[in-house]
Amino acid sequence: MEMILCKLGEVVLKGLNRRSFEDKLIANLRRRVANCGSFRIYAKQSTIYVEPTDDAADLAAAFDACRKVFGVIAVSRALPCAKDVQAIIETAKTYLHEDLSTAASFKVESKRADKTFPLTSIQLSQQVGGALHQAYPNCAVDVHAPALTVFLEIRDDAAFVHGPAVPGAGGLPLGMGGTAVTLLSGGIDSPVSSWMMAKRGVALEPLHFFSPPYTSEAAKEKVIALARELAPWCGRMRLQIVPFTEIQEEIRRNCPEEFFTLVMRRFMMRIAQRCAEEAHAKAIVTGECLGQVASQTMEALRVTEDVVTLPVLRPLIGMDKEEIVRLSRKIGTFDTSILPYEDCCTVFTPRHPRTRPHLDEVRAAEAALDVEALCGRAMDGREFVRIKL
Ligand code: ATP
Ligand code: MG
Repeated sequence: MEMILCKLGEVVLKGLNRRSFEDKLIANLRRRVANCGSFRIYAKQSTIYVEPTDDAADLAAAFDACRKVFGVIAVSRALPCAKDVQAIIETAKTYLHEDLSTAASFKVESKRADKTFPLTSIQLSQQVGGALHQAYPNCAVDVHAPALTVFLEIRDDAAFVHGPAVPGAGGLPLGMGGTAVTLLSGGIDSPVSSWMMAKRGVALEPLHFFSPPYTSEAAKEKVIALARELAPWCGRMRLQIVPFTEIQEEIRRNCPEEFFTLVMRRFMMRIAQRCAEEAHAKAIVTGECLGQVASQTMEALRVTEDVVTLPVLRPLIGMDKEEIVRLSRKIGTFDTSILPYEDCCTVFTPRHPRTRPHLDEVRAAEAALDVEALCGRAMDGREFVRIKL
């Protein structure tokens, strides 16, 4: 029966950790394809095999799911057949008919794990390549830069003909990098920053601040939708929605206008740190990008992170908007991100925000606020939304 092969990425390089990387990846793959049917999943020689156990499995859906699992660099399908040259040729012809009919050139690459197989890898490639070229004379043999590579593999149990490989998600298996709280707004940037950290193996605890009635129910739904769009990459998550209205109103009542945004961001960080401690998360992720807005100058970032001790990870810090947008389209969050709903950052924005704030001034600006009580009430008012796969 046809199956899916996932090629491991960097995982391969990790020496002693390799086993735990592989185990994590297998567990992640297992969870991701669970919706697509019943599969047997196992690792052999830098490849993970995702093999349906019956005909009911949706292989196309499982293939798409595998492409979004971090730690996999390439995904292909493969069809097993008898360990016999003629059977391999016939299988390649039917299985790869479309590809061989349309590709301008091809080569055959063979791997022989079963050393009792009578032909060497080179002999096998030559024989199968010759037969395929005869059957598809328009598809030239090109061993240097072929449009199509036909992979053959001789294993103990069977021979395998591989379909063309497509790129996987790359990165490291989710969970290998620990857990971080990620600040998820409804904008373009923060879904991308979340995705980038997940790509490096970090499991995410997303956090969203909302300020009814200044921000609408639709704005909240938008963030839930974004989290759902991230789930095929980042796995299931628990989105925490933190009420932020009281804090924003207190800031407006008590602080100089030029510091509104910075004081607000400091509250976001404090609450993020509390949530991180609760979830045993080791860092806070934001979608901040140097120079993008007044609150993202180096001085402003310093003021923002002053209130936390955990590392603040800002994967977008050196990226241009165009690069961020390109990624956002690739991961599938862009269309939702541009829906026109207000964010709590856009209510009470100062007309003249300070771009080079001094820490002392900002600390003084918020001195009148009961930080402890405000954060405590925001924590108590949280709502939790389960984001399933
Ligand atoms: P984004 O596109 O992610 O909204 P932005 O460029 O609009 O980013 P800001 O609105 O200043 O920038 O926010 C900077 C970062 O702060 C965001 O990327 C996000 O990580 C976090 N953030 C902003 N607003 C919220 C919110 N309402 N809830 C959670 N996090 C937020
Ligand atoms: Mg924003």
